[in-house]
Amino acid sequence: MVYTRFSSLFLALHPFWSAVGYARAEKPVKFVERQVKGLMFDCRMCGQCILSSTGMSCPMNCPKQLRNGPCGGVRANGNCEVEPDMPCVWVKAWEGAQAMRNRQAILDVQKPVDQSLRESSAWLRVTAQAARERENLRSSTA
Ligand code: SF4
Repeated sequence: MVYTRFSSLFLALHPFWSAVGYARAEKPVKFVERQVKGLMFDCRMCGQCILSSTGMSCPMNCPKQLRNGPCGGVRANGNCEVEPDMPCVWVKAWEGAQAMRNRQAILDVQKPVDQSLRESSAWLRVTAQAARERENLRSSTA
């Protein structure tokens, strides 16, 4: 819910991002994104955020950086095979997903991490893509 509202707000600001220039907005937005998501989700700035599909548990904190579910080493107490004191991010993801409106999203198959997108703003990328899709839809129905 909060995530949906936030992404809608960012999309509503598309005219502003366009006027400023997405490239010019990248640095300040990335700074804010890093602070906010770092604090809230221990974000590693992979640049291709899938928090909305993973119950707001960041998969980049998995020591194996698995993006499609846990490995076979989850401990009986739900902790990580590699970091025994750390809860498995995928156990947390499953729990988190149950509380989300789109709880089936966790079953979506994720692409491998594109390392070239590291240290870039996922917020701006998702917004630019959503704006493009919206414009394409408008022009195809006009
Ligand atoms: S999935 Fe990527 S962008 Fe999203 S919180 Fe994790 S590291 Fe950050």
